[in-house]
Amino acid sequence: MPGFELFGNAERQEVNDVLDNGVLMRYGFDGMRNGHWKAKELEASLEDTFQVNHVQLVSSGTAAVSVALASAGVGAGDEVIMPTFTFVASFEAIMMLGAIPVLVDIDDTLALNPEAVKEAVTPKTKAVMVVQMCGSMGDMNALQSICNTHNLVLVEDACQAIGGTYQGKPLGSIGDLGCFSFDFVKTITCGEGGAVITNNREYYTNSDHYSDHGHDHVGNDRGAESHPFLGYNFRISELHAAVGLAQVRRLPEFLDIQKKNFNILREALSEIPEVVFRTVPEGGEESCAFLNFFLPDLEVARKVSEAFKTSGVDACFHYYDNNWHYIRRWGHLKDLKSLYPISGDVKKGLKYLQTKTFEKSDDYIARNISCLIKLSWTEAEIQERALKMAEIVRTVLKKDQ
Ligand SMILES: *Cc1c(COP(=O)(O)O)cnc(C)c1O
Repeated sequence: MPGFELFGNAERQEVNDVLDNGVLMRYGFDGMRNGHWKAKELEASLEDTFQVNHVQLVSSGTAAVSVALASAGVGAGDEVIMPTFTFVASFEAIMMLGAIPVLVDIDDTLALNPEAVKEAVTPKTKAVMVVQMCGSMGDMNALQSICNTHNLVLVEDACQAIGGTYQGKPLGSIGDLGCFSFDFVKTITCGEGGAVITNNREYYTNSDHYSDHGHDHVGNDRGAESHPFLGYNFRISELHAAVGLAQVRRLPEFLDIQKKNFNILREALSEIPEVVFRTVPEGGEESCAFLNFFLPDLEVARKVSEAFKTSGVDACFHYYDNNWHYIRRWGHLKDLKSLYPISGDVKKGLKYLQTKTFEKSDDYIARNISCLIKLSWTEAEIQERALKMAEIVRTVLKKDQ
């Protein structure tokens, strides 16, 4: 997945373009910029990539999620349903708006379990946030239908799934709003950056204004622009957008390499009957950013994960024992460790985390190993890795009998 691997002259050239004319900001300074509008160009390019009408670049993927929710009117006291398995950014982005994250189980897609979503809907629910984790997706038809029934906004966090598709549509473009990150470890990078994508003109206009202090962007005198509503600053800079512009042109090339490497590893592991790959919903095509598989139980997964580490098979994660992506190790959320006071609504709304258990998620995450697919591996390295991984899994399984 990582954009940090393949980086070179094309990116340098785009950044130098910005430095040469000296306009580092995406808005205004029309006379000085000699026709360079990197953020605007990148937005147009991403509209093609994701086949949507509107793209709003912002400063990060986390900002993209907050801006998407705000643009759809999600705020104080509203409940947003989200998965137990995701990046911490998901609940951060919800809580920043004073809304309440309602965590529910995942299924063997490693994304939201539609049944769990159904059970979690209350009169306060405003949105469902599906997170397309590790290059694949949840059952989008089922989730969409729940949202339609209850009149909920469907937000799609596709930060880890650039290039994946569902029934022919790019991931991120299926929900009412989609969110992407271009931080340093995503498939393409801006250094830091993110995007909100949508076909809804009103949501787009809201995200355009909201991410720039509520500016209406009418005319070319920022001082004369009006503020139809309150906003914040989640702008991307021209320097960051310039990097992304060079990267997005290389996306098809990146995805080809990713897929090729993914298939070699998958093939090697698929010969082991105890290895079960994550379920990809009907009509879904993974982006191949990660290879995910389930082992028979927690102990086997722990041993395989340890053996991968000691044998130099890097970039494989056992999220059950990792602080990053799973509720089990999010003590700071459960104990509401905040630098500043949290609203009574949110405090009350999060009380369930003290007692609620997530057996289904625990079972999947305990048995799951998630391996990042790198783009810089040589042919020899990837073959050696495939052999090593299969051998380690076989050895652990044999000892386990
Ligand atoms: C990376 C990521 C984000 C946040 O992106 P940043 O640009 O790092 O803020 C949000 N959600 C998921 C699933 C991610 O992987």
